[in-house]
Amino acid sequence: MSIVIDAHNHIGTRHGATQTGADLVAKMDSTGVAKAVIFPFTEGNFTNDAVKTAYDQFPERLIPYCAVNPWQPDAAAEVRRCVRDWGFKGLKLHPTLNGYHLADPGLVNPLFEEAGDLGIPIIVHGASDLYNAPPEFAEMARRFPKVKLLMAHMGFFWAVDQAIAYAKELPNLYLETSRAPIFEITTAVRELGPGKVIWGTDSPFVDYEWEFRKMERCSADKAVYDLVVGGTMAEILHIAG
Ligand SMILES: [Zn+2]
Repeated sequence: MSIVIDAHNHIGTRHGATQTGADLVAKMDSTGVAKAVIFPFTEGNFTNDAVKTAYDQFPERLIPYCAVNPWQPDAAAEVRRCVRDWGFKGLKLHPTLNGYHLADPGLVNPLFEEAGDLGIPIIVHGASDLYNAPPEFAEMARRFPKVKLLMAHMGFFWAVDQAIAYAKELPNLYLETSRAPIFEITTAVRELGPGKVIWGTDSPFVDYEWEFRKMERCSADKAVYDLVVGGTMAEILHIAG
């Protein structure tokens, strides 16, 4: 049986946007989505508390990830605490908003080491920005081959072809489709196969239903579609599909 899992959502409040667990679950219900990965907004000072609250309310529907700013000296300890004490399942990083290079060894290696020890995936903002362009992902995927690394937005706007090339080369590098247009997503699915392309929405910044419906065009093959919209994510998170 196939399962639909949304790999990218924010919970909490930031300027211009807010979303609670109940808000997201209502969108999932009206769209036919079984489970959704949630993490904080990552601007400025942020905590993982709102994600914990949402997870406590909807433990069967929401999959909590922590987010940390590696400039904070306790960042790796916070990842460990969220996973060990709160049962979180992954890590979100945003190099552009927090001001560091994804491949900065001193800042970011400790977080990847922690994720490797804990056996959790990492999703990183991956538009074609300076701090987290595809070569930085490739560097980290090579440095930490056991860590499953998801590139959010799959290098859109300028770097999708480069993102696809690296994902083809590196077994632990995946492309996540939120906010990317269907032409680029279809190209990625055709080039990489369904096991390396993962659906996410980036709610609340999107029309939730549209971000899901666009995926119907990603492949004419139902088995391929099923893997992209949830099957592969279920494998990564060890969720029975
Ligand atoms: Zn996002």
